[in-house]
Amino acid sequence: MHARGLSLLSGGLDSQLAVCVLRDAGADVECVTFATPFFAPDAARKAAAALGVKLNVVDFTDDEIALVEAPPHGFGGAMNPCIDCHATMIRRAGEMMARLGYDFVATGEVLNQRPMSQNRQSLGVVEKTSGLAGRLVRPLSAQLLDPTIPEQEGRIDRSKLLGLSGRRREPQFELAEKYGLVDYPSPAGGCKLTEKGFGRRLKDLMVHEGLRERRLVELLNIARRFRLPDGTGVVLGRDAAENAALVKARAPTDTLLSPISVPGPTALVPKVCTPDGLDQAARLVCAWSRFDTFSGEIKIKIVSGETTAERAVPRPYLREPFLPFQLC
Ligand code: SF4
Repeated sequence: MHARGLSLLSGGLDSQLAVCVLRDAGADVECVTFATPFFAPDAARKAAAALGVKLNVVDFTDDEIALVEAPPHGFGGAMNPCIDCHATMIRRAGEMMARLGYDFVATGEVLNQRPMSQNRQSLGVVEKTSGLAGRLVRPLSAQLLDPTIPEQEGRIDRSKLLGLSGRRREPQFELAEKYGLVDYPSPAGGCKLTEKGFGRRLKDLMVHEGLRERRLVELLNIARRFRLPDGTGVVLGRDAAENAALVKARAPTDTLLSPISVPGPTALVPKVCTPDGLDQAARLVCAWSRFDTFSGEIKIKIVSGETTAERAVPRPYLREPFLPFQLC
């Protein structure tokens, strides 16, 4: 009887190859991918469609936020808790395996591809802490690792599994050609947590408003943000789509500002806004608005709670004073 496995699919080349190799070894494979506001499952969906494999998309936001708040093994180069994130994904896949009756979980990990997180010891630790001892298959490096239970039972043909090790990518590119895989993103691409600028915005939100409100976390993708000296946070839309997203995301405790008399950005001030913060936010909206050179003021609509008000902001509409407070 063939083993039935759940393979982690990011959409990257290694995760796609893992599916192909497992199939060659006689396993029935389905896939799982994880989604958060920091990484979308688009690449995995595309890869699953190309491979003709069933894909389960699991929301991973709460797990990821808990890890960003307190990563047991720290961060990578930005706010990316990769070691713990990867181990938690495997653990969640293991829980699915137990719940849905799969025989094993698989990943596209390659021994020694990453010096810290994919050496022999780290792979062993992940296997043990995920509760998957003997049921975590790494088909790309399996020949160099201990046989897993499905291999011992002969339900996966171990001789068809591979013995890749190290950082060289040529063997994977040859395998991609063999299996006809042409569409795959770069290995580290796609996760916002690995971007330093995004990390700064995330840290600012964590310190000031916290990460518990998903709408505020999702707004981190809007990159024009300010933290004013009194602690007021301002998120400024950069185009019509972002302005609409800010309107949609507003909670009753937030304040929304938009210019009435000229075209310009919408601004969201999360949580309670102080009078000074509101004044500064209104000036900020004016500074990024297109203004009529003959007009001495810009009218701003301010929506706060159930109240809508108007305020006229006089010239000058300068951006420079706000630039030191922009988070990028
Ligand atoms: S790159 Fe992002 S998704 Fe991948 S392990 Fe690191 S934190 Fe998790």
